[in-house]
Amino acid sequence: MSDYRCPVCDYVYNETAGAPREGFPPGTPWAEIPDDWPCPDCGVREKIDFEGVPS
Ligand SMILES: [Zn+2]
Repeated sequence: MSDYRCPVCDYVYNETAGAPREGFPPGTPWAEIPDDWPCPDCGVREKIDFEGVPS
């Protein structure tokens, strides 16, 4: 499991926690997130712009 961070607002997607308010339950792998999913906090960046960070 890894974390993925938005380069603009530092929102972090954690695979263990998921993003329930976005419709991704806990445990959803990053690979299952759509490539055009926008950052839920800033909406400026999409999944492909996120940077992997060690958890
Ligand atoms: Zn963002």
